[in-house]
Amino acid sequence: MANQCLACGASVTKIANAVVAPWITEISGQKDPQFTTLLNCDNCEFSFFEKRFSDNEMAAMYSGYRSDNYYAVRNSWEPWYRRTVNDAYSGESDHVDERVSFMTNILISAGLQECKTVVDFGGDEGQFFPEIDIQERIVIDVSNKTLRKNVSREPSLGVVKDKIDLIVAAHIAEHVNDPIDFFTNLISHLNSGSYLYVEVPMDRPSIKSHHGSEKYAEMLSRISTSSKRKFIAHDFASGIARQFGFSIPKRGVVKQSEHLNYYNLKSISMLLEKLGTTVLKTEATPNAKVGGLRLGRLGVLVVKN
Ligand SMILES: [Zn+2]
Repeated sequence: MANQCLACGASVTKIANAVVAPWITEISGQKDPQFTTLLNCDNCEFSFFEKRFSDNEMAAMYSGYRSDNYYAVRNSWEPWYRRTVNDAYSGESDHVDERVSFMTNILISAGLQECKTVVDFGGDEGQFFPEIDIQERIVIDVSNKTLRKNVSREPSLGVVKDKIDLIVAAHIAEHVNDPIDFFTNLISHLNSGSYLYVEVPMDRPSIKSHHGSEKYAEMLSRISTSSKRKFIAHDFASGIARQFGFSIPKRGVVKQSEHLNYYNLKSISMLLEKLGTTVLKTEATPNAKVGGLRLGRLGVLVVKN
């Protein structure tokens, strides 16, 4: 499995040695640092960390999300980490408006001005629906957050199957262990002629060939097992470099955080078309910022064949 692309099945090349973010290791009750590799597909250009998260790690990362303990552990490893990044998307904010208008522009430019039923998969409070003519807005989410006006919630797609005109799946696919499984499930709930809008960040770290070497693997191991303070210093320098669009320094840290998967235009288009859709419109803004962080953004609208 490690030698095969998780999006297209072709062979992959190791481009970097990496370590799992220590806050994830700690919050999921593990002691020793976990090492992994960053792989890149020679065929479709999909990049991903070899390590997939266990159910235990997923639960620890996302169920305690926004809790005090979550911030305490995460901040102890990433002192620069602020609630701002998560809060950027809650409530009324410019970030919400900006994200909505990015998606809306893509839909409208593809001629999609109205939709009877739109489903936002993992859509939080329902603040992210596009500004087109919509009759019914449904969020698929297991939370019990207070919803926006004219938005309803269902626990799963199966409940609303057969009447969906558009599924929105924004900022989820970078978190999932199995991208093919994830998209196959979404597409299976669409009728022929219905739409899927996918949005992901474009935040693959820029690395040097050095990061793929044994020498770097050994150095990363030393940094990760020495002192916490030392690790944080190397990690901080790497984060700064990424922010300014530079590659990770030679003595920096290639780190696997919540994003396991890095898509680009080619890989996401190939994957969605392989699963029985046709790409109608794409838009990529590699330098887009969210809550002050450079994350980039890629939007893709497809129609089911
Ligand atoms: Zn591939």
